[in-house]
Amino acid sequence: MPAVIGKRPGTYLLIFACQQVAAVQVGRLGKIELQPGYYCYAGSAFGPGGIGARVAHHEKISQKPHWHLDYVRPQLQLISVWYQHDVHKEHHWANILSANMTAPLAGFGASDCDCATHFFYSAKLPDIPSYAVEWHNTQQSINQHIIYNEFG
Ligand SMILES: [Zn+2]
Repeated sequence: MPAVIGKRPGTYLLIFACQQVAAVQVGRLGKIELQPGYYCYAGSAFGPGGIGARVAHHEKISQKPHWHLDYVRPQLQLISVWYQHDVHKEHHWANILSANMTAPLAGFGASDCDCATHFFYSAKLPDIPSYAVEWHNTQQSINQHIIYNEFG
């Protein structure tokens, strides 16, 4: 349990490493072909337990996949979490990430919004602060919680 993140709600970015090619059926959405490199998922958690509880969920492999992310999670290693307390910025982040990474499967994590996807790929480790420089100037800063940095 990432206690340092705490129970406050907010927006989070999960950074995953992927080490090998894997074809995964993502529920009814379709099939994704995971590639070696890095994936980033943008979401928010405003339920009980806030961001900490949601990250705890995504640290584990789900036996009953619910979110699109649960389907691909067994093929990925969670290496870090970026988060901002109290704000609903996941769609804003989806927009930022779409300018810096590629979208491997349309509609991923975006069933309830107009974003093309909330799940992104890059062969290189995403440099989240550099993507957010403009945002830093006007909004609250983002925090990073490094879970596992071997792939960084
Ligand atoms: Zn969205």
